[in-house]
Amino acid sequence: MRRPMMAGNWKMYKDVNEAATLVNDIKRVVFDINNVDIVVIPPFVDLSDVGEMLIESNILLGAQNCFWEDEGAFTGEVSAKMLKSVRCVYVTIGHSERRKYFGETDKTVNRRIKSVLDNGLIPIVCVGETLEEREGAKTMEVVRTQVSGALKDLSEEYIDSAIIAYEPVWAIGTGRTATPGQAQEVHAMIRELLKEMYSSSLSEGKRILYGGSVKPENVEDLMKEKDIDGGLIGGASLKADSFATLVQTTSEVYS
Ligand code: PEP
Repeated sequence: MRRPMMAGNWKMYKDVNEAATLVNDIKRVVFDINNVDIVVIPPFVDLSDVGEMLIESNILLGAQNCFWEDEGAFTGEVSAKMLKSVRCVYVTIGHSERRKYFGETDKTVNRRIKSVLDNGLIPIVCVGETLEEREGAKTMEVVRTQVSGALKDLSEEYIDSAIIAYEPVWAIGTGRTATPGQAQEVHAMIRELLKEMYSSSLSEGKRILYGGSVKPENVEDLMKEKDIDGGLIGGASLKADSFATLVQTTSEVYS
């Protein structure tokens, strides 16, 4: 059985003080959950402090992006090597907001994934179609292209730890969630594609998260789907009680 994950993407919310409060509150409410990988993904400036606060907790740290070089004259960028030094374990790559506002492409996603893996971190690779693409019946084609572009020329052993997050763009931050059936359909396609690209064992073991307006009211039905192995959560991860409910419900579905 694949171990589920609940990862909270804080986006550009929470300064250092607010982050400390939130992480303390989350620690208090999820400390006894041990069958879910719990991850918080704060903005860069919070990572060092939050990383220290998570020592000896059951919560792991992630970052929202990184550059592909380890160091150099790249003003404003942060490398995977630097993220590792502040105790990051995960890095989200190719989030739709990065694709939409910051020119991220499948090619740059591929380069970033390499750097994350080379530094011993785990990429959470985000893919998903826009509303226009869904309405034009292009969902499968778009997601296939994104997954195969992201993993291009990367071997089975190399991407063993990588996680995929299916996040339909029209569901992110909109309050409009994919139905469990819509999400499951795409997750199953991604798993099938991984089997074609690699092997059954890689495909069966690969964790595929769903993201897009996951909240306490819809998390149970989503997590019950066969190919959904957890969630990448935006809005509902910014409050300790709603994030804790998502973690607890996932824990119950999997126990
Ligand atoms: C996200 O930021 O990846 C996300 C899924 O956001 P939300 O849960 O707010 O839709």
